[in-house]
Amino acid sequence: MDPEILSRLNNYIQKKGMRRTAQREVIVEAAFASDDHFTSEELWNKAKKIDPKTSRATVYRTISLMVECGLLKEIDLGRDERVYDPNFIDAPDHNHLICVDCSKVIEFQDENAATLIDCMTRRLGFRPSSKSMRIEACCDKLRSEGFCESLIEMRLGKKD
Ligand SMILES: [Zn+2]
Ligand SMILES: [Zn+2]
Repeated sequence: MDPEILSRLNNYIQKKGMRRTAQREVIVEAAFASDDHFTSEELWNKAKKIDPKTSRATVYRTISLMVECGLLKEIDLGRDERVYDPNFIDAPDHNHLICVDCSKVIEFQDENAATLIDCMTRRLGFRPSSKSMRIEACCDKLRSEGFCESLIEMRLGKKD
């Protein structure tokens, strides 16, 4: 994990008059250990692997802090649970393609898309504050070959 992430959070926490805690740092470490999106429940499970004593309430509070200070973003994947994305620090304008067949989420960046969003927004008299878009799409592989690994994984209930 980039040490810059932790120091950004710690600066923010300090400004709020809160203290640094080891438990919070475990949660931040778990959140940024990979580029996987996660729900609060999933983050709790990851953090417990580092420190089994991690409490669920602290996970919830730490997620809020990370969102407030801009380290983490809540993204809308069209599911009825909140999903958090740790990848906006490295890629502030990245987009998501979500497969409606297998729910696989693909992240991508495209300069033309960013320019287009910029132009459209300015034409309407605004300035974009975030340029992320979500595309829902059908799986080509499923159509042509009748199966898709992600779909099989999803049916088996496997995650990660
Ligand atoms: Zn993402
Ligand atoms: Zn698929």
